[in-house]
Amino acid sequence: MSNDERSVGDLRNTGMALKYDREWDYELERVAEAVADREAESVGLQFPEGLKRRAGGVADDLRDLLPAGVTVLISGQPCYGACDLDLEMMRRTDVFVHFGHSPMKESGNIIYVPLFSNVDVFPIMEEAVEELEDGEVGLVTTAQHMSHFDEMKEFLEERGFTVLTRKGDERLTHEGQVLGCNYASADVDADQVLYVGGGKFHPVGLGMEHPDKRVVIADPVNNVLTEATTEEFVKQRYGAIHRAMDAETWGIIVSSKIGQRRWDVAEDLVAEHESAYLISLDEVTPDRLRNFGFDAYVNTACPRVTTDDGPQFHEPLLTPQEYRIAIGEEPMDALSFDTFHGTW
Ligand code: SF4
Repeated sequence: MSNDERSVGDLRNTGMALKYDREWDYELERVAEAVADREAESVGLQFPEGLKRRAGGVADDLRDLLPAGVTVLISGQPCYGACDLDLEMMRRTDVFVHFGHSPMKESGNIIYVPLFSNVDVFPIMEEAVEELEDGEVGLVTTAQHMSHFDEMKEFLEERGFTVLTRKGDERLTHEGQVLGCNYASADVDADQVLYVGGGKFHPVGLGMEHPDKRVVIADPVNNVLTEATTEEFVKQRYGAIHRAMDAETWGIIVSSKIGQRRWDVAEDLVAEHESAYLISLDEVTPDRLRNFGFDAYVNTACPRVTTDDGPQFHEPLLTPQEYRIAIGEEPMDALSFDTFHGTW
């Protein structure tokens, strides 16, 4: 699957009980305090896919901190980002804990535990400094490394750089934070941006969203320094658009996930085309679409599903803008990255 959960690529799936897991701070004392403050009788726990095997250990450790009689429930729903909350569990529990992502939107009973990484980011940043041009540099990172963001900034400033940062929009929790669907924090007045983080999809997104900037990638987990390139991505997207050009029937997917709904976009697309059909889905997977038999699909839900998993689908799966290119409303060279703004 493809989504922001991949930004926690350094979360290892060992299945060990939490008492042996010292890599991440699950902040269980904070959760237990909230349970006591609210006199809660039930606690819901939601984990991203990469951490689900830790759920049993986390529940054991949490139960040790809770008064007898408090029920702990684990969400089995797929989860890939802070956009992706288990609404049914939120309704049914007094305290709901979402692990692995920083808040997209605060609300009543949700406690977000972002799980900051303890990996040392500075050895690879030392190498990155050698690659950067003197002067101004933008700085961005993922939620997992956010707890070190001020130190990263200081590190660059001590080495003579003018560091430009901003908080993109309300979909983001922190200054300098990027999501798989939002790179607005890199929209700074500098010709170069340093991205501190792992994975492939954030660098590609940064490169596509900010083609006027050089994006240097310092991956502290794998200790690798590279630069963002977008050629392969663009080639893959052009291929999908070309395959969809002959489509006569279109399925327009609208998400039922709270932070991935773009009803207005989906409804506009359906209104424009007499052989387009609105399909409501939570998980967008090849199997879920297979039986509809439309010639091509447009995904208005998480853009990373389209761009990262698109090749696995049986029919072409396009972003809304790629659809307009496929039907001739926009030129091919207008291709841009599909991004989300705002919350819900
Ligand atoms: S919509 Fe954005 S935040 Fe949600 S899973 Fe996709 S990339 Fe991540």
